[in-house]
Amino acid sequence: RCGFVAIVGQPNVGKSTMMNHLIGQKLSITSRKAQTTRHRITGVLTSETAQFVFVDTPGFQTKYRNALNQAMNRSVTTTLADVDAILFVVEAGRFGPADEAVLKLLPRDRPVILVINKVDLMDDPARLLPFIEKVAGQFNFAAIVPISAQKSQKLDVLLSAVEPLL
Ligand code: GDP
Ligand code: MG
Repeated sequence: RCGFVAIVGQPNVGKSTMMNHLIGQKLSITSRKAQTTRHRITGVLTSETAQFVFVDTPGFQTKYRNALNQAMNRSVTTTLADVDAILFVVEAGRFGPADEAVLKLLPRDRPVILVINKVDLMDDPARLLPFIEKVAGQFNFAAIVPISAQKSQKLDVLLSAVEPLL
């Protein structure tokens, strides 16, 4: 199996950290500041059974309508039109208007996996299930996978969920 996988989500949810840890290289740029990834950055992971081409995207900008933000948002939409599967990344326990704006862009004719990142920051694990139910009610996700990108937790589960979609 082989295919392209887009990584989308609002700024700072950990998209670039996730891609780096998935492919095991410090390729995409991560930081606390939004807009660190101004362009699409791809990373390739080859396993025994599949080849994944991940496309990291700039965080979708909703706050300011300036030329750079509009160019970055265009980059997200064109990437989505071009991939086999999509990873929609949100931060555990947080789902707000900026996440909803990204959700609205997701194509209905492509599989989308909901990736709930930063579960290591959740002090109360009992909050995870209600959060999953809240977000899952808004879209027909192909799978839902809680992870910690920074601690490289459950990335194998994520890859197993992506592989059959390619
Ligand atoms: P992006 O804007 O979505 O690409 O987000 P980045 O990958 O640049 O990450 C934004 C911030 O979140 C950085 O400070 C990361 O170190 C941090 N971060 C990313 N993943 C995790 C995680 O799983 N747990 C925690 N605690 N922090 C994370
Ligand atoms: Mg980034």
